[in-house]
Amino acid sequence: MVAPETPRDCLFCRIVAGDVPAEIVLAGESTVAFRDLNPQAPTHVLVIPRHHYDNAADLASHDPSGLADMFATAAQVAEREGLSGDYRAVFNTGAGAGQTVFHAHLHVLGGRPLRWPPG
Ligand code: AMP
Ligand code: ZN
Repeated sequence: MVAPETPRDCLFCRIVAGDVPAEIVLAGESTVAFRDLNPQAPTHVLVIPRHHYDNAADLASHDPSGLADMFATAAQVAEREGLSGDYRAVFNTGAGAGQTVFHAHLHVLGGRPLRWPPG
């Protein structure tokens, strides 16, 4: 498979490249995990693929094992953060669902009681 392009103006591609600072929690072969700038829970980490995909569906159709890596990384983050297996992993997909950065990212939230439904 040909690696997808890295859009110059994509914030998360720039974090992967090290051009924008971030508090990195885990740097894996195909994923990077860093703390959200505006945390919604005591632990709020974003897991992203190193390659650019606009959203989770795009990632799933082009690189299914990359999508699996995202969830495996989320579990490692939860373990390191001491969440005892209690965390939420969320993809916001589309502006109407709250997606503001169009490079696929998995929110990993925990460290407080998480209500359901999330709203
Ligand atoms: P979403 O709204 O699902 O697209 O999530 C984007 C997330 O990126 C938000 O939770 C933002 O707080 C977070 N964010 C935006 N810019 C940065 C940044 N430079 N470093 C870390 N997190 C960021
Ligand atoms: Zn990107």
